[in-house]
Amino acid sequence: MTTARRTHGFRESVIRGMSRLAREHRAINLAQGFPNFAAPDLLKEAAARAIHDDINQYAITWGAQRLREAIARKYERWYGLAADPEREITVTCGATEAMISTLLALVDPGDEVIVFEPFYENYGPDTILADARPVYVPLEPGQPLDLDRLANAFAPRTRAIIVNTPSNPSGRVLTRAELEAIADLCVQHDVLAVTDEIYEHIRFEGAHIPIATLPGMRERTVTISGASKTFSVTGWRIGWIVAPADLTDAIRKVHDFLTVGAPAPLQEGVATALDELDATFYEALTAMYRGKRDLLHSALDSAGFRCLRPEGAYYILADYTGLGPATGPAAPDDTAFAVWLSREVGVTPVPGSSFYREGGGRSYVRFVFCKTEEILMEAARRLRTLRDDGSASGAREARAPEPAVDSGLQR
Ligand code: GLN
Repeated sequence: MTTARRTHGFRESVIRGMSRLAREHRAINLAQGFPNFAAPDLLKEAAARAIHDDINQYAITWGAQRLREAIARKYERWYGLAADPEREITVTCGATEAMISTLLALVDPGDEVIVFEPFYENYGPDTILADARPVYVPLEPGQPLDLDRLANAFAPRTRAIIVNTPSNPSGRVLTRAELEAIADLCVQHDVLAVTDEIYEHIRFEGAHIPIATLPGMRERTVTISGASKTFSVTGWRIGWIVAPADLTDAIRKVHDFLTVGAPAPLQEGVATALDELDATFYEALTAMYRGKRDLLHSALDSAGFRCLRPEGAYYILADYTGLGPATGPAAPDDTAFAVWLSREVGVTPVPGSSFYREGGGRSYVRFVFCKTEEILMEAARRLRTLRDDGSASGAREARAPEPAVDSGLQR
């Protein structure tokens, strides 16, 4: 039997594939970005209470009223961004569903969508599923956005630009000047900004600036975020969209027919967390991730990888090609290297090429640091063997027994 053409232009998720590989090799999974530590009690208790209270049926398709109101209060409080919970906020099954629902609702076949490269691997397939064409502009770790190249990417068919800051996997946090330059181009060319701000509270440099708050942008921005990363609940699948009412109308139609809605009792938990967790929680979150970032960065650096400390999000894109013998016959490219590292060293990254177009990113692998200190220290110990003998031989024998180092709470 044949399959639909729209599925032919992209491949399966490499990130999810590497998670499966980590399980197979009983390696520490530093591939897929999910925390292996507990979520806040307050959030869990509120969700558990909702289940006990029999909040079992569909919430309103565009989100439980209580959660939409809590989201509106959050945007007002944090960013001075007013949004009407009745007409401008939609709760989705994670930021992932938010992005695909938005593109299906707002982008026509043949339109172009600008995507920064390296990119989170969903954006290309999302664009292709919407029958649109992704147009790539570089945004490398530690590098400023090339504004000339960006300006050149705006063309008559450009419908939208996807703005992911803090950025996965580059770790860049776009500066106010960069965001203003993007905003100016959007206004000038009548283009939509579709954002992915899921890491808004995991950043180490500068403030988070939603592009919707810049002049002329509120009416042309679809702001996407969610609970997954801020509250360490990637499996709950609670995301949201803030967008002008006319755009929201179209997005809600797609969202409704795709999913009906996000899990009702979990929406209650997230509403409570948004309303009740105060500045102390957010400060502690940043401080915790700063410590983890520094730990993984120094482990990679001393193992011989070349990498920068990210400004935000919880990933490090690391160049492995200076490792010497380890990159020789054992590792002709990033995929072979990632597989080899899983098998021989017991640490699984994602091959860099999955964040670039064909042929790009082959000197990189991406590691996550959203893991307990214990796991990161064990990963550091394993990675040190790369340095000790240049080939990691013996790393396997030196491994601590499982499941003491099981990094996955993934079932
Ligand atoms: N955003 C996370 C990552 O980049 C998780 C992706 C996923 O598997 N949904 O690893």
